[in-house]
Amino acid sequence: METLKDYFTKAQKEKWAVPHFNFSTLEQLNAIVEAAHSVKGPVLVGTSENESKFVGMQQAVALVKSYREQGIAVFLNADHFRSVELAKEAIDAGYDSVNIDLSKESFEKNLVGTKEVVKYAKKKKVQVEGELGYLVTDSSKIYSEEVAIPEESYTKVPEAVRFVKETGVDRFSPAIGTIHGIAANTPRLRLNLAEQLAEALNVSLVLHGGSGVSDDDMKRVIASGFNNIHISTELRIAYGEKLRSTLKNMPEEVAPYKYLKAPREAVGDLVRDKMKLFSASNVL
Ligand SMILES: [Zn+2]
Repeated sequence: METLKDYFTKAQKEKWAVPHFNFSTLEQLNAIVEAAHSVKGPVLVGTSENESKFVGMQQAVALVKSYREQGIAVFLNADHFRSVELAKEAIDAGYDSVNIDLSKESFEKNLVGTKEVVKYAKKKKVQVEGELGYLVTDSSKIYSEEVAIPEESYTKVPEAVRFVKETGVDRFSPAIGTIHGIAANTPRLRLNLAEQLAEALNVSLVLHGGSGVSDDDMKRVIASGFNNIHISTELRIAYGEKLRSTLKNMPEEVAPYKYLKAPREAVGDLVRDKMKLFSASNVL
């Protein structure tokens, strides 16, 4: 099987995007992996700091490894880890990739911390994603109001160039107009900025906050050179809504494998749709 790095190289060359989906339960993970496998694409699954605590880092690693041993192209990412120590813990636990997110810190602090994680990760052949420019909101929320993005939170190209060069990250995540969570307004991506970044940088570009982005914008951002797209909130909604309606419809049911079947399918359906949208199907 190819490595995560190989898939990113391939995606970069062929202009498609490796999807990133978060999970915090086994049936969500099962659904994501099965769906990705069925459309013949690689998938990066992620646990945030809180999801990692809920699932267990060692457990997440063991689960993902068990699928890989069956020949399935699934890899594990520590998503938005906000401390160097915790990122190192994920590397030690066996994560395939870490997203060290010091984007709320000063540029210098972000640079120094990310560099330290890269140095640590390289020894264990773990991929590192760094972030510059921050996303203002929270993936666990659906905002009833419109969300405005402050100008200073967008990534600046010269800073991005310096950051990538000095840290040596494998993937770079800029802020180009998406948010975490879903707002009342559809996010308007700065596609010009996406293109400028893709032209200036020679690493994989990551789009966080993919939930709520229009299909058209998504295709454009991938065409511009982004090759890793994060979807979390949409998946949480699909799962949660189906779970709530299923429990309502079968109040007497006590077997989790019965009432979790429909939520699991809802996750799988969404994963397949997104992977087709990202041109990440039939690429293995
Ligand atoms: Zn994110």
